[in-house]
Amino acid sequence: MSAPLITRFDGPRLLAGSTAGLAEHARRRGPFPAQAVPHLIDMVGAAGLRGRGGAWFPTGRKLAAVAENGRAAGGAHVIVNGAESEPAAGKDKLLLRTVPHLVLDGAELAALAVGAKEITVCVHRGAGLADGLRRLVAERAAAAWGSRLIVTVVEPPRWYVSSESTALAQFVEGGPGKPRSVSTYKSGVRGKPTLVSNVETLAHLATIARNGPEWFRRTGTGDAPGTALHTVSGAVRAPGVYELPTGATGWDILNAAGGQTAPLQAILVGGYGGNWVPADALALPFTPEALRQVDASPGAGVVFALPRGACGLAETARVASWLAAQNARQCGPCFNGLPAIADDLARLTWGRDQTAFDRLRFRLGVVDKRGACAHPDGVVKLVATALRVFAADVRAHLGGPGCPGLRHPGALPLPTPPDPSEGWR
Ligand code: SF4
Repeated sequence: MSAPLITRFDGPRLLAGSTAGLAEHARRRGPFPAQAVPHLIDMVGAAGLRGRGGAWFPTGRKLAAVAENGRAAGGAHVIVNGAESEPAAGKDKLLLRTVPHLVLDGAELAALAVGAKEITVCVHRGAGLADGLRRLVAERAAAAWGSRLIVTVVEPPRWYVSSESTALAQFVEGGPGKPRSVSTYKSGVRGKPTLVSNVETLAHLATIARNGPEWFRRTGTGDAPGTALHTVSGAVRAPGVYELPTGATGWDILNAAGGQTAPLQAILVGGYGGNWVPADALALPFTPEALRQVDASPGAGVVFALPRGACGLAETARVASWLAAQNARQCGPCFNGLPAIADDLARLTWGRDQTAFDRLRFRLGVVDKRGACAHPDGVVKLVATALRVFAADVRAHLGGPGCPGLRHPGALPLPTPPDPSEGWR
């Protein structure tokens, strides 16, 4: 692992002021950088941009793979993934509200670079974003701004797994918003190799096309250059979305949110398919490489601070139950296993049930990596890290004096799930 190094931070790059209108966007960011297109894949690779949707995969390699597969298949497609289904995340929605033209520039540049003729922007139904985005797409067409490719805005259902890349591809081509097992790089929308890219990643890409890879690398770490957005909540003074250089420590991120409001016992990192880590992990840079030391990843940029006195098991049990109800009902280990895991965790948490605890540990091993998508793996990770980080609480729940934290109201947000009658279309 190379040492994380923040070389310089000149301030936010994406959240440097709202530019929702095209005229303001053009004034602040400059013209659409069409001249970068022939070199864009190399530029993004040289910049070291990594996807900010959760996986932190090198974006240049993703672009190159879709471009190559698209050439062989006679065309490609681009999906802008703005369907931010992590309940504790808000960065992509914020970007789509404050710098939507930067995101659309990134999508159009990426589409030109991979040889796609069509772009589909996906935002969750009910997020209140689709109509505004359609107006912006029309504004760009009227002003002859950008690529003049076909850009469509669609609203997949609000299910947690409907924002998964293969689920988006299936929804865009007219099917249900459910994951499937073929990689979108190879076969996405109507069989075309499809670039599915997160909103924040595309916004960074648009800045690289304008300013070059050297500029992008001026801040952040060597392994993951640039800045990254974090949605910070829990026991902090000013919950919200903050942009910091990659390599910022957990403490830097909490301090950007006004600092802690109480002594902390643990941090949820990445999202609901992420990891609990002990509070002393806040000293680490929140990069994929550094967080690997504590078996975690920055994921989708969620940072939730759990105060001492709250019950981490109860928080996890509520989230696990919510996630279990969000499965796409396609794979047995996920469909049957996740509710059973959530039930065992609830029995451990509220029922002092040793048998449920033993069964839970067995089930975590059985369900992991047994689905068509990573949804069950995320739930297993969340619960397994809770059992590890809150081991003292497990003992207190099973045989000790009981857990005073159970009196705390739940802190992690759990949106009302879609009504099953809404279906998956
Ligand atoms: S693993 Fe679960 S969420 Fe993923 S496709 Fe299978 S049933 Fe659906």
